[in-house]
Amino acid sequence: MTKIFETPQQFADEYLRVLTAEVGKDLAGCTNTERYQALAKLIAQKANQQFAQSDSENAKSDKKKVYYFSLEFLLGPLLDNYLLNYGIRDVVTEGLDSMGIKLDDVLAEEGDPGLGNGGLGRLAACFLDSMAAEGILGFGNGMRYRYGLFRQKIEGGRQVEVTDNWLDKGYPWETRHDESSVIVRFGGEVVRHEDESGKFWFSQEGGEMVKAVPYDVPIIGMDGKTVNRLRLWSAEPAQEDFDLDAFNRGDYAAAAKFRTDAEAISEILYPNDAGEHGRILRLKQEYLFVAAGLASIIRNFKFDHPDADWKRFPELVAIHTNDTHPAMCGAELMRLLVDEEGLDWDTAWGIVTKSISYTNHTVLPEALEKWPIDTFQRLLPRVYMYIDEINRHYMESFPREGEGWQDRLRNTAILWDGQVRMANLSVICSHSVNGVAQIHTDILKRETLHDFYAMTPEKFNNKTNGISPRRFLANANPSLARLITEKIGDGWLRDAEELKRLEAFANDDAFLDALAASKRENKERLARYIAAQTGVELDVNSIFDVQVKRFHAYKRQLLNIFKVMDIYNRMLADPSYKPHKTSFIFAGKAASAYTFAKETIRLINSVADVVNNDERVNDYIKVAFVPNFAVSNAQLIYPATEISEQISTAGKEASGTSNMKLMMNGALTLGTLDGANIEIAELAGMQNEKIFGMKVDEVEALRRSDYFAWDVVNNDREHIGRCVEQLVDGTFGALSGNFESIHAELMNNNDYDFVIADFASYTQAWRELTDSYDDAREWQRKALANIANSGHFSSDRTIREYARDIWHV
Ligand SMILES: *Cc1c(COP(=O)(O)O)cnc(C)c1O
Repeated sequence: MTKIFETPQQFADEYLRVLTAEVGKDLAGCTNTERYQALAKLIAQKANQQFAQSDSENAKSDKKKVYYFSLEFLLGPLLDNYLLNYGIRDVVTEGLDSMGIKLDDVLAEEGDPGLGNGGLGRLAACFLDSMAAEGILGFGNGMRYRYGLFRQKIEGGRQVEVTDNWLDKGYPWETRHDESSVIVRFGGEVVRHEDESGKFWFSQEGGEMVKAVPYDVPIIGMDGKTVNRLRLWSAEPAQEDFDLDAFNRGDYAAAAKFRTDAEAISEILYPNDAGEHGRILRLKQEYLFVAAGLASIIRNFKFDHPDADWKRFPELVAIHTNDTHPAMCGAELMRLLVDEEGLDWDTAWGIVTKSISYTNHTVLPEALEKWPIDTFQRLLPRVYMYIDEINRHYMESFPREGEGWQDRLRNTAILWDGQVRMANLSVICSHSVNGVAQIHTDILKRETLHDFYAMTPEKFNNKTNGISPRRFLANANPSLARLITEKIGDGWLRDAEELKRLEAFANDDAFLDALAASKRENKERLARYIAAQTGVELDVNSIFDVQVKRFHAYKRQLLNIFKVMDIYNRMLADPSYKPHKTSFIFAGKAASAYTFAKETIRLINSVADVVNNDERVNDYIKVAFVPNFAVSNAQLIYPATEISEQISTAGKEASGTSNMKLMMNGALTLGTLDGANIEIAELAGMQNEKIFGMKVDEVEALRRSDYFAWDVVNNDREHIGRCVEQLVDGTFGALSGNFESIHAELMNNNDYDFVIADFASYTQAWRELTDSYDDAREWQRKALANIANSGHFSSDRTIREYARDIWHV
């Protein structure tokens, strides 16, 4: 494989060419931002050329293409990852050095694209990386949001939301493709036509026309052999019907209203976890990226295979839907095949159900997507007719036998009770339904989608999530990556199972020392970042205990901060009690409408304010909240972590992926038997993690029992009882007030997430785990066991399973 740059000189020449052409300045006059943009543009140009070439070669072949539909792709910075994948990190470093530029200064300029919320979007990004690494023709299809979620600042302990104008300086990785735009229609009416012979058809008339314009981002796979593409759609007005009369009246807002109405569709990314359900704009986003994505696939299919029979479509195209956001794929593909391509219903339905597959991401009932039928029908009248017809076919063919068939029919119907149920639509239109960790798939089969499972067990399968070892080990943790490569070569970058070979060094003192030195280096790097961001100075001799993820009640950041409050209380009550020195590090955003989550952030910062400034304890414990959690700072946090807090209520976290990233970086999991924690503990060995708390069956049993949280609180006044009281007694209220709403939520809902029920088990597990830290060798061995067994959680493995079992590529 030839490299895109063979020598530092060749790189430098090409770089200077792009720099002057794109920026219009010479090197000395450029800011670091401009230097970054030019470098990103240069790499993107190379990748685009490669894509164009392979695309026309692939057009002549019958290689199947996979389209991954996801409303989110949490890409993070791309440059460092692409230099690694192209194998040109050294050449570029040297080339830049010769011009007096440090690569790290250039890399630091790249921000985080605002294209995702958290785990689901990051999974989609890891899958793009792995599809390209595995040589699969796998293309992302998503939305190009003008504004990301928000940038998080902390003021007075509170989350403050600042507009995430991530495109303000442009995005050097993207290329606009006007020629591939798609017109998407909303509203209007469906008109029935009939000819003399009685043949009838429908057309759509009127309504609002929106132009979906694609922006393509190249996805460069490991070793640069495969370049794929992520296609992001932006909404624009279909015609420039500027209202000149309004303009002449001076009513500029009215004059340009057509523009703002259309552009609103791709204006903002919706938060994933509270409050924003049922917004019509969200439904428009979902349809726009489905309709534009499918139109683009069909154009591509016809271009690649001009003579192909439609029946071959499922052999040549796989359409994967990430969660229910793209659930309309089934109905829209039916519309395209029947209305536009003239296929009959049964043929089209066969094609649809052979092409589409679906991943479920959550069993939280409040997250199951539903839309009111009247809203839906008004906005998407023709697609609704297809959904109605799919539902009718489903109900007609439903086996009306066996006890309780009426209940099963009611549970699985798409249209019921005035609502369109998107999960049922997704299952019915798909040939495959998967969960994202074994326990999650088991719960889907047993509970959430049980009636579907009973009828079509062959559709259901598990695909435990994974993460990219390139990004989350090689890019994020260069010192550890170097150490590993010295011992076992760099084959682990392509086949992460090779990490297993590190087990041979479990008794190699020099290697374990080096492992510890790498961890320390990463802790120092993170401590510098945290000091710069927050002013909190962490002791790198303390244990770095980390919980970084979106804020949600079921993830139980509240349980974690109660633990810190309890340690504080114990130290004050008994001056002889000395916990292990620990730095408690938190990060994560809360959806802006999610009061409980935002108050938990304020509580953490309020505890930090008290603990960090109390000389009686602050040599032992400190609390830091890292603002604006994103892929870029996640890459600093994971490598510095020693304790990975994965403490969701059992049965609630579908998989988790930060648990995998932290395992791969040598952290020990302090966790419940939930999501992929179970598989992590099985693979690394129970003795190398610290598992606590209720298991899923115990959680279910407790929910059915006469559990009364007040009894637990009253029976343990010193510990959990004290923490609950301190929510409202002023102990942590100095910064910005008490926490009445957390208190009310917790006690009035009888400890819904079992924070109180799991508290004793959790704090004891933490004490035992931190006590074991003093045997440094043993701890390092456990860290090594985690690293060595983390290869299974490479997203390359996950993608190979999707390719084999679902996409058949
Ligand atoms: C991995 C990742 C997540 C997902 O974290 P979980 O703990 O699995 O919920 C969220 N945000 C970012 C930036 C990530 O990198």
